[in-house]
Amino acid sequence: MPARHPDTGTLPRPRPLLTQNRELKAIGVWNWSLPAWAGRLSDGRTFNTCPSAGICRHVCYARQGTYLWPVVRAKHQANLTFVLDDLPGWETAMSREVEAKKFRGAWVRVHDAGDFFSDDYLNAWQRICAAHTDIRFYAYTKEVERFRRLVEPEPPANFLWVYSYGGTQDSALDPAVDRVADVFPDEQAIIDAGWSSQEASDLLAVLGPSLVGIPANRIRAFLKTMAGRRFSQWQAEEDTHRRARRERRTGQAGASHASAA
Ligand code: SF4
Repeated sequence: MPARHPDTGTLPRPRPLLTQNRELKAIGVWNWSLPAWAGRLSDGRTFNTCPSAGICRHVCYARQGTYLWPVVRAKHQANLTFVLDDLPGWETAMSREVEAKKFRGAWVRVHDAGDFFSDDYLNAWQRICAAHTDIRFYAYTKEVERFRRLVEPEPPANFLWVYSYGGTQDSALDPAVDRVADVFPDEQAIIDAGWSSQEASDLLAVLGPSLVGIPANRIRAFLKTMAGRRFSQWQAEEDTHRRARRERRTGQAGASHASAA
């Protein structure tokens, strides 16, 4: 674990905050990331950056491959530690960073992994967006209720988002009204469903047609687990099973109360 500052006790802050891989560089996008889903920081604290993740966590792209490299994990954990320990300081640092000339006219993808896990954190991003109108920000999110409440009434004009299926709030989505993204087994399945693939550019998720198809990662174990289903379909099945289990439990509890009465 990196050494804490002798006076303040804080861990060194990550710099830069935004990064860019080859794929994102080609389309002028910078990236901010947290560790995916749930885990433990190097100082022992537990976290959950995707509180509304559903079945997606079983095939999460950000919990395998290069995301597990120590240097990548350490960077994502340092990002999260900064947000958790000092949200105002992080907001100031992010605001300062995006003021650099190279970000003018650029896009920032908020979260390669992770999600808007709290109201305060989402509001901090909204303030950053509103203060930097020469940059465009976009995000995938499963935080439907939080966005309905905090963003939808008055979104910053330069903040675009797409709701992504595979979360515990899927049933609140309406594809006739909402911009939605679904993961499909492959490109052909996207075409067959009449949706539009974002494979050519991640920006199509927010700039293309509003039914956004994402082809699944070609990871054999993931494809096997998906078993030919779309995330929306798999999550709906999971929701049905969970409801049935709950009803069975409630029924059993009711029966034992009745027999004890
Ligand atoms: S919301 Fe995204 S990052 Fe979080 S567990 Fe699901 S797929 Fe992974």
